[in-house]
Amino acid sequence: MPEDKLRLSTALLSTGWHDDVLIGIDDKGFIQSVDVNTASRWGKAVKGIAVPGMANVHSHAHQRAMAGLAEVSGSQEDSFWTWRQVMYGYALKMKPDELEAVAAELYVEALKAGFTSIGEFQYLHHAPDGTPYSDPAELSLRCLNAAKTAGIAITLLPTLYTYGGFGGAAPQNAQRRFINDADSYLAIIARLSRVLGSEPLMRLGISPHSLRAVTPELLREVLAEFDRSTPDGPVHIHVAEQGKEVEECIAFTGKRPVEYLLSLEQLSQRWCLIHATHMNEQETDGLAASRAIAGLCPTTEANRGDGIFNGQRFLAQGGSFAIGSDSHISVSVAEELRQFEYSQRLKLQRRNVLAGQPNCSTGRRIFEAAASSGARCIAQPQGAIKEGLRADIVVLDSDHPSLIGRTGDSVLDSWIFSGGNACVKDVFVGGRHVVKDRQHVAEQSIARRFAKAIAELRN
Ligand SMILES: [Zn+2]
Repeated sequence: MPEDKLRLSTALLSTGWHDDVLIGIDDKGFIQSVDVNTASRWGKAVKGIAVPGMANVHSHAHQRAMAGLAEVSGSQEDSFWTWRQVMYGYALKMKPDELEAVAAELYVEALKAGFTSIGEFQYLHHAPDGTPYSDPAELSLRCLNAAKTAGIAITLLPTLYTYGGFGGAAPQNAQRRFINDADSYLAIIARLSRVLGSEPLMRLGISPHSLRAVTPELLREVLAEFDRSTPDGPVHIHVAEQGKEVEECIAFTGKRPVEYLLSLEQLSQRWCLIHATHMNEQETDGLAASRAIAGLCPTTEANRGDGIFNGQRFLAQGGSFAIGSDSHISVSVAEELRQFEYSQRLKLQRRNVLAGQPNCSTGRRIFEAAASSGARCIAQPQGAIKEGLRADIVVLDSDHPSLIGRTGDSVLDSWIFSGGNACVKDVFVGGRHVVKDRQHVAEQSIARRFAKAIAELRN
């Protein structure tokens, strides 16, 4: 059950910073009242500094099992593509119980890092030999189970992966667990649509994997069908992550990837373009103007040596971005935002690039931007502490050495650029207290199942 009242010593509300805040929560976990400077003694007192829960808009849960195992140099020049070979090795082995155990551990870690919802870009569909399970949505349902066990909100984005390259090239054998045609994919969507209807923390979207894994005709067909059941539901797609993809796209279509996508589809707020790393100025401006959201995964992009997103120009043009932990080489609100800003500093040899205006806090600007756009692009009713939104609240430890003596926006700057995950003390999702004084409520049993799954996978 959600708490019915929370008494917060300090909170970042949609109207700014306030002290002595009393949050009223209804029985569905939504905020029904916000009072500030209250002397009320009612409600559960939570010491610390409360900020809105963050949406993690891009996750491949199964990749948590191999985080850190692709850091050995290979015989060829290492790149995204050599990383992908290691990842495929794990993806091809993982059984349903193992996926559920790995996902539950990941979701606990995400909560403890300040994320209260996750966008699961789920492309493992079939059994290891490529045969569909008797329930075609088996592995997606395992991610939903894991989210329920951890108490995190989830937007499931089952992935449409049909081809192995541009122009409808045949998929590789190593991609056999991912592959669906329109009919088998829509059967998964229909199945999940029925399950998700009654789940308050769960939403459904679609994720055509990339421009190389679908054709324009297939994308259009699936989108039209999805719109019938979920009008304006989220649509996520990987795009322009690596140079090789850009070269192949130009060779096949005559256009760069983001340019090509902008010409194919009327992009809007429902769209989230994951990475969008390699864009020229016209593409950057075009994407900003489309109101689609750039789903940035800065620690993964850095880990894979992908490149640097054109952040300064994109934000200056009014573009919206959200953050995701993607490969889970790091699971941290603070580290994703820090890496985003640092990538811009290293590129431009300047400081506080994303602060936007003079005398503005970099941390405040990028935190609030990611929180509101992240919520929107995975259709979760969160992103600010205000009436009508779900009570997704993260409480930072005001006694942590990085936060001692900090007030106002310097709290966000010190959390993001210095203290990191260790500052996160309590987390509420829909008013439910899921992380209490740095411990998740089911942490130990979830960790045991995770250890067993890893032992099996490493065998
Ligand atoms: Zn991804």
